[in-house]
Amino acid sequence: MSVQRWISVFLLLLVNVLPVQAGNGWSTVARPSVGAPEVIGSYAAGCIAGAAPLPLIGEGYQVMRPSRNRYYGHPRLIRFVEQLGQQVSAHGGRLLIGDLGQPRGGPMPNGHRSHQSGLDVDVWFLQQPRERTLSPADTEQIEMPSMIYATKGTLNPARWSPRYRDALKLAAQAPDVERIFVNAIIKQALCESEPDRRWLEKVRPWWGHDAHFHVRLACPPDSEQCKAQKPLPMDDGCDADLRHWVQDLVQAARSPKPYRKPEPPSADRLPAACTAVLYGSTAWKAP
Ligand SMILES: [Zn+2]
Repeated sequence: MSVQRWISVFLLLLVNVLPVQAGNGWSTVARPSVGAPEVIGSYAAGCIAGAAPLPLIGEGYQVMRPSRNRYYGHPRLIRFVEQLGQQVSAHGGRLLIGDLGQPRGGPMPNGHRSHQSGLDVDVWFLQQPRERTLSPADTEQIEMPSMIYATKGTLNPARWSPRYRDALKLAAQAPDVERIFVNAIIKQALCESEPDRRWLEKVRPWWGHDAHFHVRLACPPDSEQCKAQKPLPMDDGCDADLRHWVQDLVQAARSPKPYRKPEPPSADRLPAACTAVLYGSTAWKAP
């Protein structure tokens, strides 16, 4: 083969391989980077250096889908989950924990746009009794049940439990928590049933999130490159806007559109400082 041909083959390889690697490096790197924990960038375009793993089982919680290797976060996030687990355990329950972030954060090939900076965690509404831990096979297979009748715009009373409201309220009252996303139908139901709605301020309506709630911590004070979100309005959000959310959800459930798999988030939008995190040395101490 001529030199020119070699060069053209090489260039073709570059074009075909590099963008894929840029996107997937984040989901294939197996361990956190060494060093002090630091959040870089935003929740939907960021990464984390020196992340910590959440132990797969702790007091009052258990990690679901551990094979995905998405149980890493800023130590504040790990502490938040452990403390919430302890509080739920004191009331006889055990939380099922969904995705946190990848070992170094960054975009995931499926499932989320955010969860990139080690500050987001999904918590199932469904709980287990405190004494029960699931088998590894069950943690991979048990389905995450929805808590709503989407076409009616109401909670599913056969599934919903006051325990789930209690866990949500405990999470909303944790000082590090910046906001929590739940399905608008769930928030609407809480607006109607809560005598004191002040804790609902941090609970914001979103699509999906009818089987889990999504907790987001504020930027840690020592992560100077962490990009905060616009602050929430200082009200409980039980308003006309929420009613429109519910109407839209009910409408969408009654006439569903064919599902189109969303494009995975791009790694190109990450701050330049994240490159050093992705290729930096690995924490040798096995998590
Ligand atoms: Zn989430």
